Amino acid sequence: MMFYGFGYYDPTIILIVIGVVLSLLASLKVKTTFAKYSKVRSLSGLTGAEAAERILHSAGIYDVTIRPISGNLSDHYDPRDKTLKLSETVYNNTSVAAVGVAAHECGHAIQHNRGYVPLRIRGALVPVANFGASVSWPMILIGLFMGGSQTLINLGIIMFALAVLFQLVTLPVEFNASRRAVQIVDETGILHTEEVRQTRKVLSAAALTYVAGAAASILQLLRLVILFGGRDRD
Ligand SMILES: [Zn+2]
Repeated sequence: MMFYGFGYYDPTIILIVIGVVLSLLASLKVKTTFAKYSKVRSLSGLTGAEAAERILHSAGIYDVTIRPISGNLSDHYDPRDKTLKLSETVYNNTSVAAVGVAAHECGHAIQHNRGYVPLRIRGALVPVANFGASVSWPMILIGLFMGGSQTLINLGIIMFALAVLFQLVTLPVEFNASRRAVQIVDETGILHTEEVRQTRKVLSAAALTYVAGAAASILQLLRLVILFGGRDRD
């Protein structure tokens, strides 16, 4: 959506560029770190799926299904049907990276089981954020082109802010899942000391992508405010 600023130089575009660069760097970092530790076989010899089962059982959770799914780094926990979906590389792999990712997703299952509050807030925000993201630009554009209604423009910016809020709430959820993961693989002895350190590296790199995503969306919000916010003062 580049309607605004079309035909002349829009300096706020730099905010978008910074966001894109941050996201690309973070995704490159997670891919290289994951690839590196995918080659390091864990001493326990457990696959991601086996490690996940042990972790869940050690947390007293027996009602979560572990299933392989296609895709690369597509791993996630689905609270709706209590299913831990692990990408095939993680599911069947015995590497430190695979066990780390599986453990992280178990962290989400444990959060769900324990009623971890930020996860509940995040879940409640999903429809709100989706709605906000889909209506914000149309509202701003309609506001601009149909009489320049500042109320409608401001409402559009607020809608975008809801999507940003979702990304911010995601951060504590992700950090907490990784913290739980590292603690459990360490305490249960699924990974050994050096492997725990390597797993922490993989999960920190993964967390970085969420930080970059949140930063990019804050920059986009800032751009909207600079371009369209507060015109009623004119
Ligand atoms: Zn996660």
